[in-house]
Amino acid sequence: MTDGIKDKVVVITGASSGLGEAAARRLARDGAKLVLGARRLDRLNAIADELGLASDAVVETDVTKVDQVRRLVDHAVRLHGRIDVIINNAGLMPHSPLERGKVEDWDRMIDVNLKGVLYGIAAALPHMKEQKSGHVINVSSVAGHKVNPGGAVYAATKHGVRVISEGLRQEVKPYNIRTTIISPGAVATELPDSITEPDVAERVRKVYEMAIPADSFASMVAFAMSQPEDVDVNEILFRPTRQE
Ligand code: NDP
Repeated sequence: MTDGIKDKVVVITGASSGLGEAAARRLARDGAKLVLGARRLDRLNAIADELGLASDAVVETDVTKVDQVRRLVDHAVRLHGRIDVIINNAGLMPHSPLERGKVEDWDRMIDVNLKGVLYGIAAALPHMKEQKSGHVINVSSVAGHKVNPGGAVYAATKHGVRVISEGLRQEVKPYNIRTTIISPGAVATELPDSITEPDVAERVRKVYEMAIPADSFASMVAFAMSQPEDVDVNEILFRPTRQE
């Protein structure tokens, strides 16, 4: 059991698999009150069942729809009277070289990875400002620090998440709201499955051969959350030891 997690009301987007699911498992074990969002309700329900959460702990949520993100956060506040933490985690990574012009994939990455994070902030901030406390955890990436061929748009969204998070940090200090960017390297999840270009998929597959378990991300979330209230962990950058 980690200090600073028990009874915290935590909303997680993209909780139906990968990092979001791993964070949910860890925080449930440590006694947090969870509200989980994603589009695949069947998977959310299965996770909630397994973790012994109430059926109203999951909300079908598409983060590209601001109304749905507001509904998710407002539901948590209605259930538990407050929101302590939002983990803006939903994301996708359909890499491709720019010259192939996969405009729909660019739009999806901008909508989910970038606007989805903004919508989470828009939904949570009014409650956190009123409470004069809260913690916004935004998921960026090693790709928020560097760009590789085929990964320009994804990297742009993840750089954007870091910029938005730093801007947010400076603005919300007076309200006693913490902001943390978590920037993972290769972690074993379904993320690379969204790559449709065979040559890029093959390159990424090689990197993911060294991927570390999703629980590594959950440990970082727990670390940031469990610091004393006056300690704000601004960013955690981590990756497999052998990753470039
Ligand atoms: P997964 O593909 O396993 O999980 C992605 C999650 O995002 C799913 O729960 C999915 O749920 C959700 N999601 C996708 N689109 C939407 C949407 N429109 N609305 C709501 N939820 C959505 O990948 P990861 O767990 O790895 O990815 C989580 C985050 O971690 C992403 O932001 C990713 O960029 C980041 N990341 C991951 C790394 C890795 O190596 N795994 C490395 C660095 C960063 P559903 O389909 O049910 O909606």
